[in-house]
Amino acid sequence: MPNRGITSKINFAFSFIYMLFNWNIIGHQKQLRGLEKDILNNNIAHAYLFNGPEGIGKASITHKMAGILQCENNYCKNCPACVQIRKKSHLDTLFIADDEDSIKIETIRDLIKNLSLSKQSKYKIILIKNIERLTLDAANCLLKALEEPNANTIFLLTTSNIQNVLNTIISRCRLVKFNAFSEQQLKSELENRHENLDKNRIQLVSSFSMGLPARAISLLEDDALFSNYHEIYQNLQRILNDDFLYLKFAFIDKLLKDPSLIKIFLNILLHLLRKDLIDNFYASNSNYEKVSHLIEGIKMVEKTKHLLKSNVNVRLTLENLMLIF
Ligand SMILES: [Zn+2]
Repeated sequence: MPNRGITSKINFAFSFIYMLFNWNIIGHQKQLRGLEKDILNNNIAHAYLFNGPEGIGKASITHKMAGILQCENNYCKNCPACVQIRKKSHLDTLFIADDEDSIKIETIRDLIKNLSLSKQSKYKIILIKNIERLTLDAANCLLKALEEPNANTIFLLTTSNIQNVLNTIISRCRLVKFNAFSEQQLKSELENRHENLDKNRIQLVSSFSMGLPARAISLLEDDALFSNYHEIYQNLQRILNDDFLYLKFAFIDKLLKDPSLIKIFLNILLHLLRKDLIDNFYASNSNYEKVSHLIEGIKMVEKTKHLLKSNVNVRLTLENLMLIF
């Protein structure tokens, strides 16, 4: 007679660790297991909407899910389907993204035309990134395809801004919600995966990533990117504690010479402000004025990020931001 207590504990532990497919994704086990269950039970929705913060890994998951669905060999990663999907050249797996601004109706019309062509694979899979950026015309056009799905056609949609997605689209999708990790969660995930990596680097990568695994992976794989983050982190800590405005403006000057640093600067600034806010919030001598100032600062960084996507004077916008610190 087996010991039921131990067996159920082993089964529980096994179900927690064991995944059917080699997703190679940091975290999100609950969501991935849900998707595996859909595949295993042949209960695949004709449209999924993955919702969660930018950089959380949604695009990687849709990409890998397309591979899992199209591969005839248990997501082998070597067959023609797996290789073509990885290179985004698979004829029945279509990748659609915005042009940094919107997804236009012409793109969706082309897609609808393609959907009427016969397929050579198990499924026709359409991956659309940032669907909140569909223009209203494009969204209505897509809606028709979602309302009357062809057999074995699967839509894998993502958004980091669900409040801007039409309710009529949301209601036709199976929603999967993804959450950002805490710094500690991300750190343990990275430590488990990279046992031989320098602990100090893992600590810094976890805090720079602010719970976003996609950023953590880039920071671990790209030494130049990591050293840019590290340098800006050290400079900003020094500058923010300094009252000399000319130092802050000189720093902006330096950033303007290499625009790729601006995004890093805003990410690090946000990280420092959030950290300061949490420390202040839980401090026994919590200072209301300081907390309000930090919240205001965070809002300003978010606003600056948004403004820089449009056609503004970059120097003026960054200098305005620096004035409040
Ligand atoms: Zn394969």
